[in-house]
Amino acid sequence: MLSFGNTNVGSSLIAINLLTTYEQHLRNAASVLQDKLVKLDAGEPVLMPGSGPKPYVLQRKGNVYSCTCSIWRSIDEIEQRRTCKHLRQLRGEKAETGRVGEDGIRKSDEKLKELLEADMRIRQMHAAQGNHSGSMLGRRPMESSSQDSAGSKRQCIP
Ligand SMILES: [Zn+2]
Repeated sequence: MLSFGNTNVGSSLIAINLLTTYEQHLRNAASVLQDKLVKLDAGEPVLMPGSGPKPYVLQRKGNVYSCTCSIWRSIDEIEQRRTCKHLRQLRGEKAETGRVGEDGIRKSDEKLKELLEADMRIRQMHAAQGNHSGSMLGRRPMESSSQDSAGSKRQCIP
């Protein structure tokens, strides 16, 4: 009985510790972001983590803020008016809207949606291929066991 009570006290202490660690983590994350923003504005390349194995590289050249993600690269707009979720995350929605305008933000949103939908279709196709023959769509079946193939596929989705 006594040990049961102690366990409860112990786990709530752990919960408090976890919460404190989480708050600490948030504060650290905010200062890391601030650091990155300073570097970006100074023209230094800045790495931002994406869903793929490799981080994206953000860089400012004059009044062009670029990113290596597929959203930024495939937006149908001049470079000065392109943005992506990484630049918006780093610089903030307000700053990015001020820079690229509502149109630029809308195009970035549309491109993200487009890429997510394309990704969904690929996943559905793979799911279908899992149930039937891989040659159904005239495509080579993916090597599902290969880490590399999963990694390069994921690069499409920032
Ligand atoms: Zn990006």
